[in-house]
Amino acid sequence: MPELPEVEVVRRGLERWVSGRTVDTVDVLHPRAVRRHLAGGPDFAARLTGLRLGTAMRRGKYLWIPLDEISASLLGHLGMSGQLLVQPSDAPDEKHLRVRVRFADDLGTELRFVDQRTFGGLSLHDNTPEGLPDVIAHIARDPLDPAFDDAAFHTALRLRRTTVKRALLDQSLISGVGNIYADEALWRSRLHYERPTAAFTRPRTAELLGHVRDVMSEALDQGGTSFDSLYVNVNGESGYFDRSLDAYGREDQPCHRCGTPMRRRPWMNRSSYYCPRCQRPPRPA
Ligand SMILES: [Zn+2]
Repeated sequence: MPELPEVEVVRRGLERWVSGRTVDTVDVLHPRAVRRHLAGGPDFAARLTGLRLGTAMRRGKYLWIPLDEISASLLGHLGMSGQLLVQPSDAPDEKHLRVRVRFADDLGTELRFVDQRTFGGLSLHDNTPEGLPDVIAHIARDPLDPAFDDAAFHTALRLRRTTVKRALLDQSLISGVGNIYADEALWRSRLHYERPTAAFTRPRTAELLGHVRDVMSEALDQGGTSFDSLYVNVNGESGYFDRSLDAYGREDQPCHRCGTPMRRRPWMNRSSYYCPRCQRPPRPA
């Protein structure tokens, strides 16, 4: 799954290459890619045609392009394997090309949604008064959002009967933190993933949020280096970040802090990677 930094790289690419352009034609090449647009592919294409794309926006892992003329938004779901590509109009079609958007200008490029597994897709949604697509109105702000409320997050952590990694992945509390970045931030914070949050102190929450932000910002800096080309891409991998990982994927390798072999444990159909020495499990209650 793409995480926030990957989605932000795509957002920046869209802002640079398609914002302000007017849609000329829309080809829906696979109905599954627009299944979240409940009125269907022909309606999707007809409504989008002729509209000017606004500046791409993101909240957590959700990405959308405002369509100010109709107070709606084009929402992109990247799913497991979705890619939004800006390609020269004469480039050969990708094997898994699902939607093509051509523009009414002579810049010579088009927007393509490519998705091998077709878990992702595109859809149009009315905006809330705040300008969010209505279907994501319940998604919390992400920690890189200047309006993220640290004090409210701390209060919510204390009130919920939950554990710290569950809380980090709860999109109604904090959005955009996925499995990889949660493990990295917990390692930096020396917190075991099953640590209950009810007893968190203000400094502990502040330290955790600081590490979450650092991990994401560093990934963003590295991901941002490769997008100067005309290729807006997310492929669900965090490959560019692999060299910097301290926890995720490092089972049996020495902890970068204390040298103890790292462990992997099954966790909610995924894995959690941690150092058994730096990140002590909570005592059973
Ligand atoms: Zn360690």
